[in-house]
Amino acid sequence: MATVSISVNIFLSLEGRWPQANLYSQFCYDILYDILPDQDRDVFVDIKLTHHADGQAAGYCRGDEDEVYIQIARNSCDVPYTHSELARNLAHELIHAYQFITNSPKLESEAYGKENILVEKYWAK
Ligand SMILES: [Zn+2]
Repeated sequence: MATVSISVNIFLSLEGRWPQANLYSQFCYDILYDILPDQDRDVFVDIKLTHHADGQAAGYCRGDEDEVYIQIARNSCDVPYTHSELARNLAHELIHAYQFITNSPKLESEAYGKENILVEKYWAK
């Protein structure tokens, strides 16, 4: 088996009252190490869980090549997301994080296309 060296330094912070925060943080690290290029640099990813998001959206992502800010909604229209829905929404926003960090086009199609693959691969494994 080949040895893979990953030198991108991910500084992840989860804010808000995450249920099973360790599971979600491991999920984020697994996805980010999978999708981010192997570059010798620091990347800051700040993920905040809020009661809901503007427009009852599942989440938002903004940032640049060095720092990304993600908001994940716990509820939409006062209905809480299940854990697997939260994981899917998180995977979706992490694909947008990749797009900011690599300065790639911000394609919704890419985010929707890959979210379930990442959940299948990394959620609660
Ligand atoms: Zn999106």
